[in-house]
Amino acid sequence: MLIIKNNAGLQVFIAAAQKKGQRIGFVPTMGALHEGHLALVRHAASLSDIVVCSIFVNPTQFNDPSDLEKYPRPITRDIHLLHNVGCTVVYLPSVDDVYPPGLNTSMRLKPGPLSEVMEGEFRPGHFAGVMQVVNRLLDLVTPDYLIMGQKDYQQVAIIRFMLQSLKSTVELVVSPTIREKDGLAMSSRNVRLTKAWRSHAPLIHKTLSLVRGQLNQKTLQTIEKEGIEALEEVGFRPEYFRVVDGETLQQIKDPSHHDHIVVCTAAWAGDVRLIDNVILKP
Ligand code: AMP
Repeated sequence: MLIIKNNAGLQVFIAAAQKKGQRIGFVPTMGALHEGHLALVRHAASLSDIVVCSIFVNPTQFNDPSDLEKYPRPITRDIHLLHNVGCTVVYLPSVDDVYPPGLNTSMRLKPGPLSEVMEGEFRPGHFAGVMQVVNRLLDLVTPDYLIMGQKDYQQVAIIRFMLQSLKSTVELVVSPTIREKDGLAMSSRNVRLTKAWRSHAPLIHKTLSLVRGQLNQKTLQTIEKEGIEALEEVGFRPEYFRVVDGETLQQIKDPSHHDHIVVCTAAWAGDVRLIDNVILKP
């Protein structure tokens, strides 16, 4: 496994791989790696000849400076974890590599309604930053496959929209959410949960999963209200709990009119913000 810390090194490696006709799988991450990230790397390795995993805490997608500051950065441990999971290159760019002074990397593309709901409502500017960093990293890595996690459902929808809008040839591959045994979706932020919050945290997935059995029995308004209440009961501060169309991400009225349905939530567990979702249909 190679560790590449700058663009010049990456370009040499990528050019050599492409000359050999090797297929490149790319897994962008912000580090503080866990089994969820490693599953993406394994998935990438099953599709491609070489796997590039980037670790870059992207400042432009944080709307809250203290969240950026508190974001865990255990780089030595991360590199250790990437051994033996099929990673060929760990790419550790600096802020100047990703955003060279003088280069305009911001995107004019606006994902519209997709980015105005849920995360977009509560984290203004977040998706503009996500599109900017993914687009820039794709320019640098030039992969065949981009592997992302279903855990960030809305992010996947926005990147899919971006790739389609840019007529990109990169194939987006979505990997299922990896969970702890008790159902909690793995997240880099979980290490910041207090012991008490860690014990409450599985309620998020449990509450989302209950919706599956309720979809044809209760109104969506009731489902969403009860979801919020269940989380509030133990002290979570939910920002949203929404049953949405799996493609447009807009709230739905009648489940029978939609082929793709997903329930998504974001909730504060103390000072840690957790998100999760469960696909209800198909
Ligand atoms: P992050 O480092 O949190 O920006 O995540 C990097 C990638 O890992 C994104 O595509 C995430 O959706 C994905 N990811 C994060 N947590 C999980 C998880 N528990 N299961 C599967 N993929 C995940």
